[in-house]
Amino acid sequence: MDLILFGPPGAGKGTQSKFLQETLKIPQISTGDMMRAERKSGSDLGQRFDSFMSKGLLVPDDLVIELLEKRLHQDDAKGGAIFDGYPRTVPQAKALDAVLEKSGRRIGKVLSLEVPEGSIVDRISGRRTCLDCGQAYHVRYNPPPPSGRCGSCNGERVVQRSDDTEETVRTRHAAYLKDTLPILAHYGQFPGVVVAIDGMGEVDAVTKRLLGAVGLDAAGS
Ligand SMILES: [Zn+2]
Repeated sequence: MDLILFGPPGAGKGTQSKFLQETLKIPQISTGDMMRAERKSGSDLGQRFDSFMSKGLLVPDDLVIELLEKRLHQDDAKGGAIFDGYPRTVPQAKALDAVLEKSGRRIGKVLSLEVPEGSIVDRISGRRTCLDCGQAYHVRYNPPPPSGRCGSCNGERVVQRSDDTEETVRTRHAAYLKDTLPILAHYGQFPGVVVAIDGMGEVDAVTKRLLGAVGLDAAGS
């Protein structure tokens, strides 16, 4: 099944999608991680990403779609994928629908994590990110290992990113309300696709709610 893990920046999408992919045995597709990896690889496409990202500009939709389409044709993603942090706009959602449709696929569920706006600043200001592999942590909800090194790649650069400040959080939240939230109305035209999930509480409690919404318990059965 193809899923979108939806919600405002700081709702815990990155953390939850890691758990979901382990249980559902389908890969998480984070365009942010993929673009960073492609950029690091120095490939032709990566260099085109770099020309935008190095200036702090948004990467144009058609370049991201090119990367997504390539990814969806890889073996592990043929049975479905979890989209996290993408699509961010209704045009991106429609482009994703069109790419999936080429393979006879469609978004089966949009799991919408609901977190009150007041909790978002707290969550993001506690966020720590591995600069080497993109793994996300939170000082309270999902702390990095006591060694301070990344639990995924053993890298030493687990840091608070400069854009995880209160000011940028507020700017991103406003953009989310304006550009991203309308995606729910887009998928709302398909009965049963959008499911609201309470995103507050412990990480594993939220995971249980998400798995329940796709008809699984935490053991994956
Ligand atoms: Zn790492």
